Amino acid sequence: MDRAAWLAAVKAQAPRLEVIGLADTDRFSEVRHAWVWKPPAGVLGLLPRLEVIVNLGAGVDAILADATVPKHIPILRAVDPNINMRMTEWVVLQVLYHHRQMPAFLAQQKQRVWRDLPQKAASALTVGIMGMGVLGQSAARALTGLGFNVIGWSRTGALPLDEFLGATDMLVCLLPLTPETKGLITHDLLRRLKRTGPLGAPVLINGGRGGSQVGADILRALDDGTLGGASLDVFETEPLPEDSQFWSHPKVIVTPHVAADSDPEAMTAYVLEQLARHQAGGAMAPLVDRVRGY
Ligand code: NAP
Repeated sequence: MDRAAWLAAVKAQAPRLEVIGLADTDRFSEVRHAWVWKPPAGVLGLLPRLEVIVNLGAGVDAILADATVPKHIPILRAVDPNINMRMTEWVVLQVLYHHRQMPAFLAQQKQRVWRDLPQKAASALTVGIMGMGVLGQSAARALTGLGFNVIGWSRTGALPLDEFLGATDMLVCLLPLTPETKGLITHDLLRRLKRTGPLGAPVLINGGRGGSQVGADILRALDDGTLGGASLDVFETEPLPEDSQFWSHPKVIVTPHVAADSDPEAMTAYVLEQLARHQAGGAMAPLVDRVRGY
């Protein structure tokens, strides 16, 4: 996150707001609102007058993993139309990349081969989205608009996992990282995806959290044909280690956790509006539910 851009946005939109940084430890007792993204462990427990934690990105796994974060302080979660649209763009880009056989065309281009390949309609493909929250629903709307069949799976949804997987040609993961979603995407799960679709083999697209996938299982699935391709923005270890096989795997697209960044100006406007509501005694929404973990 670009701290200067956030400070500039706050200064422009709330010039009278007092802002202190992590280095101003002697002023920690004045802090009422903590605007954070992956704060150092322990720091949120050092603010005696803290009223609200503002999470500047969509995932709260880093904050919830810190046992010293006071349990009674509400955590405001990021809902910024810019994040939604950026993630939607990334998902649509990856879905179209695999659907329109770009890996094969790029390989042909390298060899100066001019050959057409059979083209299927989007409606012949089912995109299954794991995690039908703010981001999942936005991506689903865009993909439906392009003609894809879209199905969703979520914690409170009615579709059983096996039924969802068995109907899915492209698996898009937009799940938060929680104890339940950790290590969910295994070889066994990928084996249960639809195997008779127009792509020949299913594709995995993960823009959620790397902790939800088992990297070694994905590589094995790519190599034994269980998966036909993968687009990954997130990894178990980030930055992705230089010796990771994902970098050079011919069936893999790697992006460096950039699918959807928060926009400082839009998020600042949203946060200031929510905090004004809170100060006037109203409710902020949505808040992070610590029990469910997102
Ligand atoms: P959200 O609105 O909180 O939605 C989360 C979705 O996941 C909900 O549909 C929820 O089910 C589902 N879910 C949670 N736990 C589940 C479980 N155990 N089993 C099945 N479904 C489960 O979150 P969001 O705003 O869409 O964001 C999703 C995640 O994207 C974030 O948590 C973050 O990790 C990731 N993200 C990544 C980037 C990036 O740049 N790569 C950027 C932003 C966000 P219910 O609907 O039943 O509650």
